[in-house]
Parts: sequence; C-alpha cells; structure tokens
Amino acid sequence: MLSKQQEEILQEFDGANKSNWSDWKWQVKHCIKDIKQIENVLGIKLSEKIHQQFSLISEKFPMAITPYYLSLVDTDNLENDPIFKQSFPVINELDVLQTDMADPLHEDKDSPVEGVTHRYPDRALLLVSNTCSMYCRHCTRKRRVGDQDSIPNRKQILKGIEYIQNTQQIRDVLLSGGDPFLLSDEYLDWILTELNDIEHVEVIRIGTRTPVVLPQRITDNLVKMLKKHHPIWINTHYNHPRELTNSSRNALKKLADAGIPLGNQSVLLAGINDCPRIMKSLVNKLVANRVRPYYLYQCDLSEGLSHFRTPVGMGIEILESLIGHTSGFCVPTYVIDAPGGGGKIPVMPNYLISWSTNKVVLRNYEGVITTYKEPDSYKPTYCNMNCDNCDLLLATNDADERKAIGIEMLLSDHNESISLIPSGNDRYNRRDN
Ligand SMILES: *Cc1c(COP(=O)(O)O)cnc(C)c1O
Repeated sequence: MLSKQQEEILQEFDGANKSNWSDWKWQVKHCIKDIKQIENVLGIKLSEKIHQQFSLISEKFPMAITPYYLSLVDTDNLENDPIFKQSFPVINELDVLQTDMADPLHEDKDSPVEGVTHRYPDRALLLVSNTCSMYCRHCTRKRRVGDQDSIPNRKQILKGIEYIQNTQQIRDVLLSGGDPFLLSDEYLDWILTELNDIEHVEVIRIGTRTPVVLPQRITDNLVKMLKKHHPIWINTHYNHPRELTNSSRNALKKLADAGIPLGNQSVLLAGINDCPRIMKSLVNKLVANRVRPYYLYQCDLSEGLSHFRTPVGMGIEILESLIGHTSGFCVPTYVIDAPGGGGKIPVMPNYLISWSTNKVVLRNYEGVITTYKEPDSYKPTYCNMNCDNCDLLLATNDADERKAIGIEMLLSDHNESISLIPSGNDRYNRRDN
C-alpha cells in the first residue's frame, strides 16, 4: 500500500506504476539528485537563495535521495523534518572548522591494502561498494561521496580477501562501503562465499542503511542467499523513530526471520535526534522490531558536519535517560570514534561515586545512593597465564597465546610494565640520554 504522498511522487516519473515503487533497482535509478526535481516531486517551492546555495554545496557534496525516503518527508514542517535534514544539503556543510578533517578516523592510514581497514586485533573492515542509494548529509566518509559511484571489481576485492586470508587473527569481517546491499545478490553471494571459505573467519557483519532508506532491497531472494552464509550479523542505521515505517519494519522482519541478528548504529545529530525522548522512542521501537541498539555515535570530526555536532554532554544525558529507565537491551553504547584512528571509545554517565578499602558507593538511575560491601577476604589468583596449572578451568586452547595490551596489560600479573608512556615524552627522553 502506497501513501498518498508516495502515489503523488510516483506520478512525477513518466510511465511509472505501483510495481516500480517496490523494485529497488527502480528506486536507485530514480534517485533524486537535483533541487528542481525535489520541488516537483514534493510539490513545494524553495527560495532563490536555497537554489543558489544548493548549486554551491552539491559541487562539493552531491545529493541523492531515494524516492521512498523522500516520500517520508513532512512538507508542512520542512525546516525541522528529520528526514529532510538527513538528505537535503544546507550551506553549513561548506563551513570547515580548523579542527575538521577529511579522514578523522584515519581509515585510509590504517589500511594495509586498498579497501581494508585493519584497526582492531581480531576484526577488519572490508569496503566492498563505493556507492549508496542515498547520500546521508552526516556521512563520516563524506570525502568520498559521489567520488565515483563504482563497484570495485572482483580483482580489487580479491586483494582484500587475500589480506584477510593471510591474517590469521581476523575472526570477524565487517562488510561496509558504501552500502554492500547495493551490490547484486550474485556478487554479494560470491564475496560471502570467499570469506566463508577462510577458516579463521568466524562471523561476517554487514553494515547497511537499506532497511531505512531503501527497504525494497530486502527481497526474498537476498534473504535466502544471506541465510546460506550464517553466521551473518547485520547492523543498520536508524536515527529517528519516524524512519520505522511499515515497509521498513517489514524489511527488518524478513531479516530477523532469517535468523540474522540485527543491530543499529545511530549518530547523534543536532536538530534531528538530540533529545532523550526521541531517542527513547527510537530504541524502544527498534527493539519491538527485533533490532538491538548497538552504538550511539558522537558525530565525528569529518569536514562538513559541524552543524550536526552536539556537545558530548548531550549523549551522556540521553544515556542517563535510558539506563535503568528502559530495558537493558534498549540501551546502546555511546561512543566517540577517536580522531587519529584510536577506535571507538565508550563514554558513560558515572555510577561509581566513591570507594574505600572494603566498600564502594554507587548511585542508581533514580539518584538513590547505595553502598556495596566488598568481600573481606578475597584471595586473588596470581595469573602467570599458565592455564594448565590454574584452579579455574579456563583451559581453552588459545588462552596461552593471548597477549595483553594497553590498560589490560597494566592490570595483569604476568606483565611487569607499570606505566604506558606516550612516545616523545620529554621526561622519559631525558632519561634515555
Ligand atoms: C567500528 C569498527 C570496527 C568494529 O568495531 P566493533 O566495536 O567490534 O563493532 C572494526 N573496524 C573498524 C575500522 C571500525 O571502525
């Protein structure tokens, strides 16, 4: 069933009928890329000034919106509409702050071969598609948007797969892009088959926004193909409760019914979802549709995003309003993806208020202050990583191969480091001389 607005939009495309609407390829082919078309399709008139700004912005950061996603816009409240704001360019995108960066997460620097970002010890990102059905205005890879809407060929992707094959410690591969679901079923099937053939790859994750902006993409055939490659996990990207339409929820249902665990990554966006009530409604709706809120991202430092950023305090306030107030599995982890490639760093409200040698003082979500009495006699087990001689029956095969790093290393018994010192620390440099 199409809404009135959708029927009207459809009429704007010559010869289009209702079955075109549910065809994802038709949707992609008829993405709205220029401002006059928006006016026609939505039946609105934008000011001369907006027209002028549009041409300036779209030269640097092009626009593309699926007819479906555009059909969710509320034209009576355009300025504040969360759908419109995520898809229509505004002049602030051209503000580049001194602290902005083209590639703040150093995805290109942490790339051993083209198309792979290997940042964490046991997992890697494989970029399989340079194209998206729609260009989110808040894209962290904005630098690349519209570069060339190309699909890497098999040879290029094979290089990435080869790297994963040769890197034993990678047990989790994230397919990203672009949007991997813009590939054909056959092409995706090939990539998944290649990855599944690698013995040390235990799970494959796919990051896609198609359930939100192009739910037509979740076809029975796609789902049938994905099912062959379990364990497959999918993370999608809802930012506002309005995005959970009937077609979108139906797409989620198909994926969940295929046994695919679903997660959601939201970005905290000023003027769109920087509100505890909106976020609570979003996470509750997601869970009702079997999607586990996974991450809430602080908007990062990519160029052209400054108008979307909120203070970190906004995210903490949102978490404060979720933890304890709603089901634990409705609460995402709020993260700042560290500039410079440090990875995602979780930030949380503080619940531990104080502690003594045998008691900790905590507060709960209601503001009740509680004490927790710690054990009087706890015999710490000294850990020398010799699991064969330990009373705790861990005894997994790879336990003794683990190497502790970072804070984990400082906390461990078997490593004698007492501090982590940044390279270039003057005080330590003086000692070396
Ligand atoms: C986010 C990300 C991952 C996955 O991180 P998780 O915390 O496991 O979800 C892996 N590699 C890169 C480069 C990432 O940005």
